[in-house]
Amino acid sequence: MTKRDNTGAKAAIEISRWIEPWGEARFPIDVELLARGAHKMYHRDDPITQIHGAPWKDLDGFLQRNPDNPKEWWLSYKETALPGRQRFTKAHELGHYVMHSQRQDEFRCGPNVIIEKDTGEENIEAQANQFASYLLMPANHVRPRIEKAPITLDLISELAGIYGVSFEAMCIRVVEITGERAVLVYWDNGMMRRWSRSEPAKLQRLWIDEPADEPLEPYPGTLAADASISQCPEGAVVPANLWFRNAPEGEMLREMKHTSDLYERVLSLLIVPKFEPRWARDEEDAPLDTYDRFIERGQLPY
Ligand SMILES: [Zn+2]
Repeated sequence: MTKRDNTGAKAAIEISRWIEPWGEARFPIDVELLARGAHKMYHRDDPITQIHGAPWKDLDGFLQRNPDNPKEWWLSYKETALPGRQRFTKAHELGHYVMHSQRQDEFRCGPNVIIEKDTGEENIEAQANQFASYLLMPANHVRPRIEKAPITLDLISELAGIYGVSFEAMCIRVVEITGERAVLVYWDNGMMRRWSRSEPAKLQRLWIDEPADEPLEPYPGTLAADASISQCPEGAVVPANLWFRNAPEGEMLREMKHTSDLYERVLSLLIVPKFEPRWARDEEDAPLDTYDRFIERGQLPY
């Protein structure tokens, strides 16, 4: 197993110490202010002197040395991107400045910066993404907010507002931090694009079974496959084995669904409750459903 690369996380935690005294008022993080002062924090003589939007189509962010003065850096970002996305991009470029600018003179960052996957090998794009994610959504600030109540897409949306990031970036971060068994799946045009899971989900061996040579389509019977439902922020309870073949018969999970208007994208968030053997109901005359009868006869496979 490859070791996780925590370079971006460490750099973000270090720079965050400078703004922690501002308390709650530091959110959403003012990345531009931080970028303009970053050289002082690191005692460097090559500051970021310009930060501006640019009319790009294929780039999200660009960090380069001033062609006329190599002691200055210019940070630019796609001006048509939504504000949350712009903030993430600026933080990503600041990450390059902090971690990589002493070995490279320019960084052109494409539209996949958010979904670049951390493979464990040195990957400066993944490091810059990790930096941005940790800087904008610090775990010690997010965690208490997702432990108070059940995770729903409405809660994630509210948090995205607090941290000034996109809904997608917030979903990814919540799944990284949560103590729940959570799995996040993205579908683009009806095909799976990527999935990620929380640490407890990994321990439970929850994984999305992908066919080797064809794209995965949503499993029949799931909310993800139901074209008549575009939003389900609280989630619906569905049999766990629709999603996970290793789930015991009768085990259920909560499936949430979000369809993005901007892109042809569907996001599924699955929360698998902690597995506990179930018992027959106390009320003698309560009507038993198939599952309860199954338990009474001792036929469950656990
Ligand atoms: Zn980059």
